[in-house]
Amino acid sequence: MTTLIQEKLRERSIPITEIEQSAFCQSDPKLESKTLEAEFKAGVRWQKISPAYLRIEPQELTERIRIARAKLGDRLLILGHHYQRDEVIEFADYRGDSFNLSRQAAERKGVEYIMFCGVHFMAETADILTGPDVSVILPNMTAGCSMADMANQDDVLDCWDDLQDVLGAYGGIVPITYMNSTAGIKAHCGANGGIVCTSSNAAATFEWALKKSKRILFLPDQHLGRNTGVKLGIGLDEMLVWNPNKPLGGHTADALRAARLILWKGHCSVHTRFDVEQIETARKRYPDVNIIVHPECTKEVVDAADSNGSTEFILNAIREAAPGTVWGVGTEISMVNRLAAQNPDKTIFCLDPVVCPCSTMYRIHPAYLLWVLDGLNEGVVVNRISVGEATRANARIALDRMLSVV
Ligand code: SF4
Repeated sequence: MTTLIQEKLRERSIPITEIEQSAFCQSDPKLESKTLEAEFKAGVRWQKISPAYLRIEPQELTERIRIARAKLGDRLLILGHHYQRDEVIEFADYRGDSFNLSRQAAERKGVEYIMFCGVHFMAETADILTGPDVSVILPNMTAGCSMADMANQDDVLDCWDDLQDVLGAYGGIVPITYMNSTAGIKAHCGANGGIVCTSSNAAATFEWALKKSKRILFLPDQHLGRNTGVKLGIGLDEMLVWNPNKPLGGHTADALRAARLILWKGHCSVHTRFDVEQIETARKRYPDVNIIVHPECTKEVVDAADSNGSTEFILNAIREAAPGTVWGVGTEISMVNRLAAQNPDKTIFCLDPVVCPCSTMYRIHPAYLLWVLDGLNEGVVVNRISVGEATRANARIALDRMLSVV
């Protein structure tokens, strides 16, 4: 009986980062930063820092960050993900998606510090790809990712053991993890013949895996996995969703043996906000609208859109589009707002009428930048992200496989 109750409780458990996702939703499309003290009231977890940083007004923060950053010169590289707020991204030496930022981290020589204005798994990847003489820093340690949090390492190891037992003699399985996962999950893939992928190269990694085995376990985003599988001609009846809270993921051994694609039950809290109704509304309002969405959206949304692709794909498609064109975009609001501001000759809007930034990205408040910079100028490295040796080595195998495939 106790086991049944425990199982029921586990079934309902979702990462705290998912529960907190709507904390910053608002009606003001400008999303201007407030003092850190005012933002603490949003009701999410924050990393504690010195009270001296709590009440500094955004404009003063901008001025002080500029001065503190200048003192560090070429010793520091600041990387900014496209989903960061304006008051943070303006200090980025390089902007990009998670993969391009990690590549920048790996290729830049001679820097001592990399401040990664993104989320935890991105800073981990940067640490894996750089040498021990580079300190990778995440300004706020509570900037995680609800999708990455949905693939708990123990649950993934249990799933893998179960799959080995069930499939062992039936053709095996290759694990593929999306970049948006912990270093531990990447390492698991590296150690078990698997690979990492991004939203722009997922199809190529699936093709690579299907040459080695008849099945794929895809972690942690079921939607990117499903959308990629469909693109490659895998039928929906050949896919299963693995629920880590149920025995054998909620399936029979025979069903698992018949599957070609096993999708982890994870999703992005930001991209699953988009729905088909929003697309229909946009089409009624602007008959010539181009609907472009990220493949972390559901299959129904991807099917209803005109095109879909990675963050960089969306950026390039809109930048290169003809003046006067209209774009309804299904991705993170900070990036959509910036695209609209940078392309005044086009009409660009977010499909979601509610202004909801990625709540974990949004935890990189400028006060944390100043705190980190002040520390570095005093010789103190705060919030260093350091991946352990064994994890680093295996994760690197999975990352290097991806680089050799694409
Ligand atoms: S947008 Fe989605 S996948 Fe990206 S960091 Fe936020 S929650 Fe994670």
